[in-house]
Amino acid sequence: MIGLDFSINDSIREQVRSASSKYDVSYWRQIDQEGQFPYEYWNSLARAGLFGIIIEKKWDGMERGILDLLLAVEETSEHFSGLGSYLYLSGSLVAEIFSRHGTEGQKKSLLPKLAKGELKISIALAEELTGFDASSIETRATLVQSGKYALSGSKTFVTNADLADYLVIFARTSKPDSFLKRSLGVSMFLVDADNSALKKKKLERLGMNFVNSFTIDFQDLMVEESNLIGDLGKAWYDIIEIFNLDRVLTAASLVGTGKLALKQASDWAKKRTVFGKVIGSNQGIQFPLADAAAQLEVAEVLSLKAASLADQGKNFASEAAYALLCSTSAASAATDRALQTLGGHGYYKDYDVERFWRDVRAHKVHPVSEELLLASIAERSLGLPKSY
Ligand SMILES: Cc1cc2nc3c(=O)[nH]c(=O)nc-3n(C[C@H](O)[C@H](O)[C@H](O)COP(=O)(O)OP(=O)(O)OC[C@H]3O[C@@H](n4cnc5c(N)ncnc54)[C@H](O)[C@@H]3O)c2cc1C
Repeated sequence: MIGLDFSINDSIREQVRSASSKYDVSYWRQIDQEGQFPYEYWNSLARAGLFGIIIEKKWDGMERGILDLLLAVEETSEHFSGLGSYLYLSGSLVAEIFSRHGTEGQKKSLLPKLAKGELKISIALAEELTGFDASSIETRATLVQSGKYALSGSKTFVTNADLADYLVIFARTSKPDSFLKRSLGVSMFLVDADNSALKKKKLERLGMNFVNSFTIDFQDLMVEESNLIGDLGKAWYDIIEIFNLDRVLTAASLVGTGKLALKQASDWAKKRTVFGKVIGSNQGIQFPLADAAAQLEVAEVLSLKAASLADQGKNFASEAAYALLCSTSAASAATDRALQTLGGHGYYKDYDVERFWRDVRAHKVHPVSEELLLASIAERSLGLPKSY
């Protein structure tokens, strides 16, 4: 790790712990069972200023680095929530979009509110027909009269669209010149989520009940030209580093959730007595948990490495892919073995580990699937032909 400086500052973890202390496992159990957004908890994180970790001080943020953000996400996930990165979405990925590519007007109106947790903004990129081949999206934005774009298309899997104030919608502003240049001609637009042209439909899914996802259809949704984010047609280039950040924060979320699952499992294994002895005294119980703990440790170091490179302004694409790949597998092992350790109890909702298992499963396919992570590692790190 030559040249890497993790500069771990535990004060951010302490801030998360203090903001989380009132919200115990029963709070999260209720949120999951009722499918509610955790507003109270969100407000507690917001009061502690935690949504402004990477936002500049001049916009009311803390102006700290990605490492601190990563630690906050991991700690939040470890504190019963699981998958904390979703709570930080607006203060991390969205804030980065505007900090790096927004106009001064957009920064001034949005960043202070994002830092204080007063705004939620969702990202609408995915489309039913294009799948992971996102550069071939078909939503169109056409300049129809001076200063206005008409957006028409259909988005899917948009998380938090029910409570978002705005959406960042990706749309084609010009046709791609060729297959190889498909990444050109895509632009980002800031759209008021209350616009009546947006037809939202809730999707039912396996887990992550604390946030909902939606399909959104729209025809001739009128957007001011001033709501264009970044350069016209260059969204793909603007967003790519931010997607790498998404991978690192998702990895931190998975590591936190995996640790939480292992803690629940170890606590159970220490006290559950069967055949006259605690089950945790059997190596058949211990070893898979220890193996998952080791995998989580590796995943954590990889995500710290990626974050450290990001803070030094270095390319961290490969490290972000490694971190996400290892953390999905480590957190899957941890939650699966936790469920196994609790036996029949593990399958019931009163014991929480089934929730962690359901939630973690999402990240084998989102934000990017294991297959596509492997394909990008094969291409980027091994020099093999691009396969996607
Ligand atoms: C919980 C959740 C929340 C989400 N939130 C959002 C959001 O807020 N905003 C948003 O825009 N999107 C969101 N998404 C969408 C997500 O980022 C992906 O775009 C989406 O999951 C792609 O799914 P798909 O079924 O279209 O995959 P497909 O592209 O149809 O892929 C299906 C399978 O084929 C595999 N595959 C495809 N191509 C190859 C290849 N070349 N080599 C090997 N394997 C391949 C994939 O790995 C996958 O296993 C969310 C998804 C989930 C699950």
